Amino acid sequence: MTTIQSNLQRVHERIAAACAGAQRPVNEVTLLAVSKTFGPEAVREAFSAGQTAFGENYIQEAVEKIALLRDLPLQWHCVGPIQSNKTRLVAANFDWAHTVDRLKIAQRLSEQRPEGMAPLQVCIQVNIDGGATKAGASPGETLTLAQQIAELPRITLRGLMTIPEPAADFAAQKAVHLRAKALFEELREAGLAVDTLSMGMTADLEAAIEAGATMVRVGTAIFGGRPTA
Ligand SMILES: *Cc1c(COP(=O)(O)O)cnc(C)c1O
Repeated sequence: MTTIQSNLQRVHERIAAACAGAQRPVNEVTLLAVSKTFGPEAVREAFSAGQTAFGENYIQEAVEKIALLRDLPLQWHCVGPIQSNKTRLVAANFDWAHTVDRLKIAQRLSEQRPEGMAPLQVCIQVNIDGGATKAGASPGETLTLAQQIAELPRITLRGLMTIPEPAADFAAQKAVHLRAKALFEELREAGLAVDTLSMGMTADLEAAIEAGATMVRVGTAIFGGRPTA
């Protein structure tokens, strides 16, 4: 087995243990492998171990990688910032976008989604811990934004996504993730058909799963460390 393959196995074990601890069925949690900065060969290796959903941050890098991997049945998730001038590339290349945080971006994605493709699957990124300079809709405006996005024709609103600041310990991680879970439930109670709560990364996936995550986004634990900028 290659390193990536054995790493994947270990991540699946972590997810299974967290689900067992939280008394949740393991099939409630999808693993998104975040392959940013790693080349197409790393993605191929992960695919050969059964991984099909991949997340990318840098849109230009992603578009090149996606083109080189067209021969594989992969699902691509945009988890990086989406500026207005990048919406066309996202709409034309990705299956999901997790980082939509304002209506204008959602409208452009909907308008620019090519006719021949299925609707773009969208999560609203929420600034759940309130960092002043951080991306993400504020929790207070999220329900209204969700109701507006849900009306767009070429987009399917799937749920919420968060990237909290690193927290000191498990309890602190879980407390923040529980706030996202509460907001997610608010959307559902308002009648929105959302099913995805995208939160938890290498360092905090157990806390995220305990709090109700349905998709964890894991890079380092699968592909290894990334060069720091
Ligand atoms: C890089 C990244 C991840 C993966 O982070 P790791 O700590 O390497 O698991 C998840 N989500 C987003 C949005 C990222 O940018």
